[in-house]
Amino acid sequence: MIKLIDKLLNGECFVVTSHCNPDGDSIGSITGLCMALMKLKKKVFIAMDDAVPSNLEFLMKPSKVAALEGDMSGEYSLIALDCGDYKRLCCREDIKTGASSIINIDHHVSNDCFGDVNYVDKEASSTSEIVYYILKQISKEKKLDIIDADIASSLYTGLITDTGNFMYSNAGADSFNMACEIIKIGIDKDSIVKNLFQNNSFSRMKLLGDALNTLSLHGDNIATIELTQEMFRRHNVESNSTEGIINYARDIENVEIAALFKEKAENDIRVSLRSKEYADVNVIAQKFGGGGHVRAAGCTIADTIENAKHLVLSEIKKALKR
Ligand code: 5GP
Ligand code: MN
Repeated sequence: MIKLIDKLLNGECFVVTSHCNPDGDSIGSITGLCMALMKLKKKVFIAMDDAVPSNLEFLMKPSKVAALEGDMSGEYSLIALDCGDYKRLCCREDIKTGASSIINIDHHVSNDCFGDVNYVDKEASSTSEIVYYILKQISKEKKLDIIDADIASSLYTGLITDTGNFMYSNAGADSFNMACEIIKIGIDKDSIVKNLFQNNSFSRMKLLGDALNTLSLHGDNIATIELTQEMFRRHNVESNSTEGIINYARDIENVEIAALFKEKAENDIRVSLRSKEYADVNVIAQKFGGGGHVRAAGCTIADTIENAKHLVLSEIKKALKR
């Protein structure tokens, strides 16, 4: 952590990015860290090519960080948050290659340490949790209370997104400790929960209905669910607002592995994988060039939904036999 903190304290300008299809942990860690770097008088920009899902827009408001538009002039470090794979970074190629260094802060087991400085804690529940403890350390060194209610709210969002509101096994003592300390700072945790989990549009719920109609069991421990382009069109819902739909498949009794197949475009299938107790879905996702965590991973397959389902199901069955 010392090397990382030196790098953050000594740098003057940072461009911050995360993975494509951003979620609460990516946006939460971005906004939390950016606001903190701004308090440390650093020049900071966000570079994200994918749109922020509407249920996370509330995080962008207090951050006041400029989105990077056009070219970057001058020297900067690129901070990659919550991204295990250089190829998945959600910013333009020239932003990646133009950086004087890449700082990789993440918690994915599949992270291959692509940065010049790597702080990868595979035990951490979320990247937001890592950022929280980094900021605490900086506060101590600088004798400055950096973590205010806005920063705390961003990091809390990442924490509860990745732990399923403390439901998953990745919620450990450090996560509960962080939550306890953050709540004492004085955040509106109920409104964050409402924004994240209780603010669905009616059309998104109708989309969920269509998705649930495709729910199928393969044996008694594998469940799949599908989302097609036609469904997104019918309900006029963005294909990035499908967070949580896979949980309905995972949460069926006896199901160990759930897979969601989302048709983003023709022959462009995003696969999400979840496991409940023992299976390692990261290994399965890596067979298709993806990655993630033991309990949650993903990959992209350039084929039809039918073929993608066939390919992934055969790997899932192999994995469960082992
Ligand atoms: P989701 O299913 O929610 O898209 O992703 C589950 C987890 O796997 C997330 O932590 C996400 O970052 C990771 N993940 C999803 N797709 C990919 C991928 O194509 N490559 C890698 N390396 N990780 C992925
Ligand atoms: Mn994460």
